[in-house]
Amino acid sequence: MNNLKLNNIINKYLNTKNIKDNSVNGIQIEGKKNVKNILTCVSINNYIINKAIFYKIDTIITHHGILWHNNLPNIIGIKKKRIYKILINNINIFSWHLPLDIHPEIGNNVIIANKLNIKIIQLPNNNFPVLIGKINTKKKIYQLIKKNKNINFLKSKKKKIKKIGICSGLGEKYLEKTILKYNIDTYITGEILEQSFYVIKEYDINIIIMKHYISEIYGVKKLGEWIKKNFSLKVKFLNTFDIYENSFYKKERKK
Ligand SMILES: [Zn+2]
Repeated sequence: MNNLKLNNIINKYLNTKNIKDNSVNGIQIEGKKNVKNILTCVSINNYIINKAIFYKIDTIITHHGILWHNNLPNIIGIKKKRIYKILINNINIFSWHLPLDIHPEIGNNVIIANKLNIKIIQLPNNNFPVLIGKINTKKKIYQLIKKNKNINFLKSKKKKIKKIGICSGLGEKYLEKTILKYNIDTYITGEILEQSFYVIKEYDINIIIMKHYISEIYGVKKLGEWIKKNFSLKVKFLNTFDIYENSFYKKERKK
């Protein structure tokens, strides 16, 4: 499949042109014209690029790409090293960020809601990327917390888990807005910053922190499956959670 044609098809499916985002969504670096072998990942990094070269991958599709509107535009440091390797190996880099968080079928938030048996009240959108939902049974949520030791759960003193806001990745920005606008009792997100712990305590809500990486595996993986099914291309997802993010936490725990 032609690389620019694939880019157009995915942009259309993910509604890229109507979504305002910090990420440069769609094709970021042009490589081989003919796409045959795709590697999907949550974040571009040196390990991913080396693996792509080793496995003769022609296209990388990532949730967190190389080019961001608010980043330093200079091609220096690790950005230079990555781009150099990508160009001499003629690899396409595609990235879809917010379009893969808020998509109504394969978005991170919708998939998290489905996995946890959360009934959707309001889908996330370009202006408000938080999914609002409610549950009848907490069973799936408690199973998830129990099964995955990377997930943190801070329980409210008084509020039961009923009305939920889901925001994959750094859900910081929308935490208080979601509490005030939708009167949620529970917030599910990837990560939060220090100041959010006071917001959580003072509004006394439940919070489930999945880790940024884990909350954003779903969308890009599903996009890969969608491409595989519709265009018969080879697609493989590579998980680097244990090599990067999780290895830092492990080292901290050992000290
Ligand atoms: Zn993210």
